[in-house]
Amino acid sequence: MADATADHSATGSLQVLGRAVILLGPPGAGKGTQAQRITQWYRVPHLSTGDMFRDNIRRGTELGLKAKPLMERGELVPDEIVLSMVEDRIAQPECRDGFVFDGFPRTVVQADALEQICQRNHLGPTVVIHMKVDPDLLMRRLTGRRICKGDNHIYNIYDRPPAVEGICDVDGSELIHRPDDTEGVISERLLKCGASHAGVLCQRP
Ligand SMILES: [Zn+2]
Repeated sequence: MADATADHSATGSLQVLGRAVILLGPPGAGKGTQAQRITQWYRVPHLSTGDMFRDNIRRGTELGLKAKPLMERGELVPDEIVLSMVEDRIAQPECRDGFVFDGFPRTVVQADALEQICQRNHLGPTVVIHMKVDPDLLMRRLTGRRICKGDNHIYNIYDRPPAVEGICDVDGSELIHRPDDTEGVISERLLKCGASHAGVLCQRP
């Protein structure tokens, strides 16, 4: 995938994804970046359960009304509701040629259910991309990360520093170091992540 932004329709190749792509990996592995490349290349949507919740709540659907009070109280939304939303979303024509899912499924039960939903919607076997990155490199990426207060522009003090220390090149706003990008917090997240891989899935940051 040398040029993910290429307009492949111009080359005459008609590549149809025809399936779900799931990205797994520790925080900082670059799942978001890869998801964006795949969705641009295949012209498929990038799904997230967060967007589905927001959409259902905005439209006042039955599922949205059930999920809203749980989310407001910070409680876990049960699988039954999550999976119904996922099923509705995948049944939409926009998902006919496949899609990329980031942050879902998180459990084996959800993964099995997703596979069945895909089959019902005539999609091929799901592709799972498990991203592995050297823990030292992840630590460097995350501890070095700085985010601008203005518009969330992302920098890295080691690999992609701003022209002026602590200041965003684009909009001049202050760059901040998120409290969960410190070494202690990251080690804990990476440990948790490693442990859950045996059971398939890894938590998002
Ligand atoms: Zn900025």
